[in-house]
Amino acid sequence: MLKFTPILLALIYGLVMYRFSVWRTQAELSARSTELRDPALQPMLDRMAAALELPRVRVHLYDIEPVNGLAAPDGRIFITNGFYRKFREGEVTAEEMASVIAHELGHVALGHARRRMIDFSGQNALRTAMAMVFARLLPGIGIWIANMLTTLLAARLSRGDEYEADEYASALLIKAGIGTAAQKSLFEKLESLTSARAGVMPAWLMSHPPTKDRIAAIERHEAGWGAS
Ligand SMILES: [Zn+2]
Repeated sequence: MLKFTPILLALIYGLVMYRFSVWRTQAELSARSTELRDPALQPMLDRMAAALELPRVRVHLYDIEPVNGLAAPDGRIFITNGFYRKFREGEVTAEEMASVIAHELGHVALGHARRRMIDFSGQNALRTAMAMVFARLLPGIGIWIANMLTTLLAARLSRGDEYEADEYASALLIKAGIGTAAQKSLFEKLESLTSARAGVMPAWLMSHPPTKDRIAAIERHEAGWGAS
């Protein structure tokens, strides 16, 4: 029994840290966001709401600079101020903003948003818990194995999720009459933004698979659906 106590403690610690991360993330998002209301964007939201047979699609503006879109574990969708500014300044079109929102809606609809907490704020807790377990079982290399497993698990989870969210977004954009052209052009825009400002890759691209692969996957789906 005594032998298993550290493992039990590590598991409890991991769980508590996970719950705390969820709570802290939601609190941070709530404190720093307002509902995004923009007449120039509203027609896009209305078309997606109609396609989803929902009364409305609500989007929140998260007051941070990195260009990013997020789906919170409670199902709220956030667009960062940095991203929204690109739209206001005409660098990103309303259709392209809609494609990001559709992608984030996909993460919510497919249940990724909750699971993704493990990839982000929950990842450290998982790493710590596993390190405690493995350090005990395999002194020396245990921590190294825990790190590797956590990274591998997170990468696997998030990569699959991204392609699924892209596919959901394509289907929604087609149904809403917005089309997938904006979905692809946004990827390319974000990528060129990266090379223009050496080294500063938009967070939304960094956490996602390579642009070329994402566009190829979208085109594969379109061909399958007979949409292109
Ligand atoms: Zn995503």
